[in-house]
This record gives sequence, C-alpha cells and structure tokens, in this order.
Amino acid sequence: MPLGNPEISTGSATINSTVTTPFTLRTVARDQHCISRKDISPNALRVLYRLREAGFGAYLVGGAVRDLLVGGQPKDFDVATDATPEQVKQLFRNCRLIGRRFRLAHVVFGREIIEVATFRANSDDGSGDREVENGMLVRDNVYGTIEDDAVRRDFTCNALYYAIEDFSVRDYTGGFEDVLARRMKLIGDPEQRYREDPVRMLRAVRLAAKLGFSIEAATAEPIPRLASLLNEAAPARLFEEVLKLFLSGHGVASFEGLERFGLLAVLFPESAAALKSNRTGALRRILIEGLGNTDARVANDEPVSPAFLFALLLWPAFCRSLMALQKQGVAIEEAQRRAADRVTMHQLSTIALPRRFSLPMQEIWLLQSRFGSRQRKRVYRTLAHPRFRAAFDFLVLRGTASAEHAEDIAFWRETQQQSSHDQDSAQDELAAEVLVEGDEPSRRRRRRRRGAPTALGE
Ligand code: ATP
Ligand code: MG
Repeated sequence: MPLGNPEISTGSATINSTVTTPFTLRTVARDQHCISRKDISPNALRVLYRLREAGFGAYLVGGAVRDLLVGGQPKDFDVATDATPEQVKQLFRNCRLIGRRFRLAHVVFGREIIEVATFRANSDDGSGDREVENGMLVRDNVYGTIEDDAVRRDFTCNALYYAIEDFSVRDYTGGFEDVLARRMKLIGDPEQRYREDPVRMLRAVRLAAKLGFSIEAATAEPIPRLASLLNEAAPARLFEEVLKLFLSGHGVASFEGLERFGLLAVLFPESAAALKSNRTGALRRILIEGLGNTDARVANDEPVSPAFLFALLLWPAFCRSLMALQKQGVAIEEAQRRAADRVTMHQLSTIALPRRFSLPMQEIWLLQSRFGSRQRKRVYRTLAHPRFRAAFDFLVLRGTASAEHAEDIAFWRETQQQSSHDQDSAQDELAAEVLVEGDEPSRRRRRRRRGAPTALGE
C-alpha cells in the first residue's frame, strides 16, 4: 500500500476513473492556524498518538478540522491513517470493524466512538474492492495515499488534515483558504461529483446553513438542474440527512437553502406544492415558526422530536390532501384519516420515515380537529391522549399564523392548568386519606409524600 508523503508539495491524484486532479500541498504550520490540542477530544488524541507511536501516519480529518478552524465545537472527531483497518484493530483492544461500503475501524471509549478510516482512493485500478452501479458508488474499499484520500472527499473545507506529528494542517485542495473565506467548494467537477453521489447537494446546503458559509458559484450552479437525482438516493439515508438538516440547530437556514436550490420540491414534493399554492402564506409562516422554535430548543439543549418535525414538514401536504378529499365529498373524519395515510405513504417513497415516528406524527395531525370539541367527555379523552402535549404545541404553532385558533388555544391552556390543579388536589386528598388511615403500609405513604409535597405542608 502506498504511503502518503507530506514532503511532496505538488502531484496529482485520481478523483474518479476519468479525471486526475493536480494538487499542491500547503502545510499550514502550528503557529499559523488556531487549532489547539486542548480543543480536541482526549480520546481522539489517544488514538492519534497510538497510531503515530506504531509508526503510522495519523491525522484528524473532515468536519472536526473544519469546525475547529471556524471556532466551532465538533460533534465528532474522525481520524484518517495509512494503517489498514486490521492494523488499527491490532493496536486497540476497544476496536471493532464495521461497514460494507466503507470498511472502518471504530475505537470505542464508553459513549464516545472515534472513527478511524484508512486513506481511500476513488480510482479503480483493480487493486481494491470497488463496485459502481449506474454511475453511483455502492462499495469502495480501495486504499490509497493521503492525496487520494483528500481529493475523493466532497468539499475542500472537509479535506483538511491535522497532523499529530507536527500539529500542522495539511491542505491538498485549497480548503484552508476556502474556510477562511467561509465558502463551500466541491472538489473536482461539480456535476460529476453530484452524479456520483446526489446526497452531496443536500450536504452543500446543510453545511452552508450550519456554518454560515456561502456556496461557491460553480458548486451551486448544477444543484437546481440535478436536484431530481436525489430520488435515486437511498430513502433511509435521506431520512438521516433530513434529521441533520432540521434538528441540528439551523433548521430555518436549511429550509431556506433547500427552497432556494429546488431541493425542497424533491424531498417533500407535496408540501412544496401546497406551500406554492397557499396564497395567504400561512403554511409557510407555520413552518418557519416551527423550525425557528426547534432551533431555539436545540440551542437550549432541550429535546426535539422527529415525529413533531415531520408533522410540521408534512403539514402543508396533509392540509392539501384533506381539502381535496373534502371537495370530493368525503366526510371530515374519514378524510382526515385518509389524508394522513396518503401523505405518509407517498412520502415514504422518498424518505424512509420509520413507523415509530410516522404514527405519532399522524396522531398530532388527527388531534388538531379534536381541539374544537368542548364536550366534557371528549375533553377528558383528548387531555389523556399520550400525544396531547405535542398536539397542543402544534396548535399553538398554527395560532402564530392565524388568529382563528386563539379561542381554542386559550381554552386548552386553561383546561390543562385546571386539570393539573385537579390532579394535585386529588393527590393531596389521597395523601391525607393515607395519613388518617394510619395503619396503611408505610411504603405507599413514603413514596407519595416524597414525590409531591402535599397540602399538609410537607
Ligand atoms: P458534520 O458536521 O455534519 O458531522 P461532516 O463534514 O463531519 O459534517 P460527516 O458525514 O461526518 O460530515 O463526514 C465526515 C467527512 O467525510 C466529511 O468531512 C467529508 O470529508 C467526508 N464525506 C462525508 N460524506 C461524503 C460524501 N458524500 N462524499 C465525499 N466525502 C464525504
Ligand atoms: Mg462529522
């Protein structure tokens, strides 16, 4: 296996079977960049040092280097090396090998996993294990040099290597300048790179949104033209990408980027059509407001739910389908159920939304119509529904775009307060009873009293 040679300053590497990309190595010395070891995960450092001690090249690479250079906090630390996965496994007891398309080593430290990847080439010289179907890569375990590894990455800002041997940053694609200029630039011919892996279009938008980068003209230009290629991407992968787009704290920016590049219409065709034909703009306001709330929750480290997110993203599609069914004369309750099922089923052909999320998503929708009912029995049933809280939050969201829900929101807010007050009094009564009875087994009494302070002043 060829080894990377950092002393070489120019050369070429094969980006795919037809294009050879010339490169110039720029070594950015440790005092010329802001990456400090104290910002790197101690476990990642352990892995880097161990590889180095064993005589292998060891580099921090990808998103972590990029994020550190812009002063961000990486969410994971990936390592690249010239050691093969098997050699890595021999160095670490806590290591397991994973993956079929890309064979990788995972070094496990409790809850933190450091991913260690062997330098890979994108060329097929027959020496490796590579498979292409319809121009898309399905497997490529072709090991290569650090230069090969750099040019097969997607964006220049993702192809920087922090070397543990001298703490320099190695740049083979001009990524260092691009990070400083805060721009996303694809390595190689953009159209070819998107055809090879259409998900790169989503990554361009997502990373630009996350980092506040611009997308360089030649990288941006093919996206609207090639957007429909995303239909060929694996639905399970698109589900993961959608979660990253919208649940990482930059959902509004992601949404605007997807809209601008014509990607929204491919990911969520029915919602995009509904947004377009909604003259009042209420549907769009709900979406933006909901995504903004989600971003705020992420910023405050509060939990966010994929079910609520998809309820939001597919709400325009649901409303549209519901209206069409009602126009055909289908009764409201039946129309709601059918619209929910139809929208979910159509969406599944693009994005694999697991049932554990699609079912609560539908419940959030179906509960919306129950908020109009004031019948005592129904009110209790709605309140006791496991999805009540999420559905109520959704109603509040709808209220931000239209005043017509104000009365329902006020009613349910008060009903909740009343009900929690009632529950407290019921609990107090029970606790008082237990105390009066005296001979009640003390275990029950203790548990209840520890859980909630009672009216008895405890
Ligand atoms: P994030 O902040 O979302 O983790 P990231 O750039 O680290 O962003 P990962 O999916 O963790 O994204 O990928 C790690 C690295 O692998 C990237 O920085 C890039 O160098 C490379 N990479 C990821 N996806 C692709 C792709 N589709 N094509 C080429 N290279 C890719
Ligand atoms: Mg990453």
